[in-house]
Amino acid sequence: MQKPAHCFIGCDSDYADSRIVVFGAPFDGTTSYRPGARFAPAAIRNESYGIETFSPYQEKDLQDIKVFDAGDLELPIGDTSATLDAIERHTAKILSDGKLPLMLGGEHLVTLGAVRAAAKKHPNLRIIHFDAHCDLRDDYLGVKLSHAAVCRRCHEIIGDNRIFQFGIRSGDRSEFTWAKGRVSMCRFNFNGLQQAVSLVDRNPVWLTVDLDVLDPSCFPGTGTPEAGGVSFSELLAALRLCAPLDIVGIDFTELSPPWDQSGASTALACKILRETLLMVK
Ligand code: MN
Ligand code: MN
Repeated sequence: MQKPAHCFIGCDSDYADSRIVVFGAPFDGTTSYRPGARFAPAAIRNESYGIETFSPYQEKDLQDIKVFDAGDLELPIGDTSATLDAIERHTAKILSDGKLPLMLGGEHLVTLGAVRAAAKKHPNLRIIHFDAHCDLRDDYLGVKLSHAAVCRRCHEIIGDNRIFQFGIRSGDRSEFTWAKGRVSMCRFNFNGLQQAVSLVDRNPVWLTVDLDVLDPSCFPGTGTPEAGGVSFSELLAALRLCAPLDIVGIDFTELSPPWDQSGASTALACKILRETLLMVK
């Protein structure tokens, strides 16, 4: 894979040497409310030069690890199905090379393409999902491939009791009803995450973080802001709890830079990305 013109700060190692591969999936074609998430990966790269490579939280530095930034996928915006195929192919390639894909959305539907690839390689895949929204609709206005249905589509691939949701505070009544006995859902916060980590045990995990799990007071730059969310520190602590797991892929979705002209939401995403890169095994 070729290096992009510029990369996330400290992620300038070669593909062959790197354990982690960062790439952007700049797609927001099914966003139901406020579009703009397609601009997130480029904004994250640009703004990353405003943070340090050193983490005072972990006493580690991005310069001491090997990460390759593959740039953004060229996606056929307007064709959802072909977009997901492209994401699946790219993720499969990274997985088959024994590396950890870290995808930057884009809206949350991009996760489906990546999970398809991960579930093919790892039949026992589990998903840990942080989000304000259930994303368990069977369809959104008749559309099955929607960011509001992404977890429902993932459930069709990996089955009952393998998805663990946290921070959920919004959804249709039918989503909450459907969830019972099928997915493990923790509303409002990360209570029960330690228990989920125990249940996941040694199974492979895809970690999907819809950044609107954060409270809009610290993260207004998103397409569907939802009051009553978690803080930056709570999200960081939750990621730290997950870090010992066998994480086979990660995504961060739903940052929408145009909705936060202060840039604070993008800066937060950069910091969460740095901490995650330094955290995973
Ligand atoms: Mn979501
Ligand atoms: Mn959401």
